[in-house]
Amino acid sequence: MAIPSGDRPARQPQKKFFHRKKFCRFCTDSNIKIDFKAPAILGNFVTERGKIMPRRITGNCASHQREMTVAIKRARTIAIMPFVTAEGR
Ligand SMILES: [Zn+2]
Repeated sequence: MAIPSGDRPARQPQKKFFHRKKFCRFCTDSNIKIDFKAPAILGNFVTERGKIMPRRITGNCASHQREMTVAIKRARTIAIMPFVTAEGR
C-alpha cells in the first residue's frame, strides 16, 4: 500500500544573516543626503573591495538605490572613491 508522504521533516530555516534594516536609509532619515562629494556616506554602500552593494543588501528603495549608484559612479570618476580596492598586494 502507498505510504502517505505528507510527513516531511520541518523545513530548514533560511540562512541566518544578522538582522539588517529592511528600510531604505535615505527614506527613513531625511538628514542623509546622497551626495557624490560625501564618500563617508557612499562608503557604507560599497563592499570592502569597492563594489556597489545590491539593493537586497542595502535595503534601499529603488529610486534611492539608483541615485546612490549614480553618486558612487560620479565619485569614482572624480577619484574620491575607488573603482577597486587592491587587496593582497
Ligand atoms: Zn528611499
